[in-house]
Amino acid sequence: MNGSVKYIFITGGVVSSLGKGIAASSLGLLLKQRGLNVVLQKFDPYLNVDPGTMSPFQHGEVFVTDDGAETDLDLGHYERFTDKNLSQKSNVTSGQIYEAVINRERGGGYLGGTVQVIPHITDEIKSKIMRAADENGDIDIVITEIGGTTGDIEGLPFLEAIRQLRFELGKQNVLYMHLTLVPYIKAAHELKTKPTQNSVRGLREIGIQPDILLCRSERPLEDEIRKKISLFCNVEKEAVIEALDAGSIYEVPLRLSSKGLDKIVIEKLDINCAELDIGWWEEMVRRIQSPGKTVEIAICGKYVHLFDAYKSIIESFIHAGAANDVKVNIKWVNAEMVEKNGVTEYLSDVDGVLIPGGFGDRGIEGKILAVKYARENGIPLLGICLGLQCVVIEFARNVCGLDAGSSEFDQDVEHPVIDLMLEQRNRSKMGGTMRLGSYPCEIVKGSLAEKLYGSVEINERHRHRYEVNNNYRETLKDNGLIFSGLSPDGDLVEIVELQSHPFFIATQFHPEFKSRPQRAHPLFKGLVKTAIEYSVSSAGKAHQKASQDR
Ligand code: GLN
Repeated sequence: MNGSVKYIFITGGVVSSLGKGIAASSLGLLLKQRGLNVVLQKFDPYLNVDPGTMSPFQHGEVFVTDDGAETDLDLGHYERFTDKNLSQKSNVTSGQIYEAVINRERGGGYLGGTVQVIPHITDEIKSKIMRAADENGDIDIVITEIGGTTGDIEGLPFLEAIRQLRFELGKQNVLYMHLTLVPYIKAAHELKTKPTQNSVRGLREIGIQPDILLCRSERPLEDEIRKKISLFCNVEKEAVIEALDAGSIYEVPLRLSSKGLDKIVIEKLDINCAELDIGWWEEMVRRIQSPGKTVEIAICGKYVHLFDAYKSIIESFIHAGAANDVKVNIKWVNAEMVEKNGVTEYLSDVDGVLIPGGFGDRGIEGKILAVKYARENGIPLLGICLGLQCVVIEFARNVCGLDAGSSEFDQDVEHPVIDLMLEQRNRSKMGGTMRLGSYPCEIVKGSLAEKLYGSVEINERHRHRYEVNNNYRETLKDNGLIFSGLSPDGDLVEIVELQSHPFFIATQFHPEFKSRPQRAHPLFKGLVKTAIEYSVSSAGKAHQKASQDR
């Protein structure tokens, strides 16, 4: 595309959790598949500098980028939909904005002026919005999602900043898309447009007239309803777009495109681009929707009632399922319940087990029991981060006979087979100080890891403070644990596996951050493939039969 960079802003109204992130990602994909160079970013109005210090209860998963930023989980969707790796700069919070302005003030940067929300905070927001285009190469379109909901006090400076940008850059270069809810009221048998009207009124009071309304609804929006919304909200009827609940998030771009979203965007922004080329995505969605068979994989963790905490893992299973032509049913297993009720009740009928990452000691013993059960019964297992640490503790205890643990949970444990990394010992700040982001890992030839990756050199993303204690490497190795992936200097254990088991592998890094719908991650793909084999094998059948007989 020739000409100036175009900016699209996505705001949300009425309630949160309407799927702004998926809407932004979908639009990103559609524009990319029209040959445009698109970058996505998210601006979050909260005061934390990043979500790295927030609990999963507050925030869901913390998504880690290659360059080690701890970001909002929507960035995971952006990366998965547009297949573009994002950076630290793609997630900006009020905390970062205020930090920059206050630091400048302390440095005397405002030359005696009074520092104010308008213009100093809004200027900082605008400069951070625009840098996405400057620093990502030849960008045609910057899509910026504004977190929160219209009407939130803390979101006002962001809305003011994007209002100013349209004024400064011109209508042909800035587009506002607003996501709202059109609820169905059962008692009245009617879809209601009032919440949307109110939300748009709120935006217009700030000076933002949306160009496109995406209306989330559980029922189709009849013409009459769209006409009404159009009239009251001052948005053309064609630009009032129905966004029905979808079975899979990967279906959303197809649906939105069928309602004309990408066409309207390029018309409004006067963009010259190619026709939409999305056949391969349709094919992928078909595979997700009509799988050949089903396998059941347990995720044994601590936040199992909070699906957002494991977002990228769930998506990785969808990708790996599509790649293997199966549907992966996730069985959520609360590690604390395993501790309480024993493992058999939860794992006797599954075809695979995943132990996810986590912090703190809650549920740890349950996870260790789950590892032991998978190891002893030949059930395919993948451990991630804390999952690897549980694998090592279990092996040290039950195979090497050590009274082993992690110093994260017990400072006085006799054999701390998992210990704080050296560089972490003198850290006093908690935010952004873990071993974060992409690091190289060298894989041992002939290992399961090499077979899965088809390579001996990989790069994966990390988020941890603890590691395998090298003082125990020899004992663990002598007893049969294979260290199949190490940091290039050999100092950090990155992958462990067992040979005498169909699929037993654990990683200190987080493979889930790099899985893509079109490129399922090799470890997830391998786990699902072996789970299929296990489910039809005599071991799997016998195992499940035994549990039914009990
Ligand atoms: N708590 C562990 C550590 O800090 C594991 C972290 C994780 O699973 N992301 O090393």
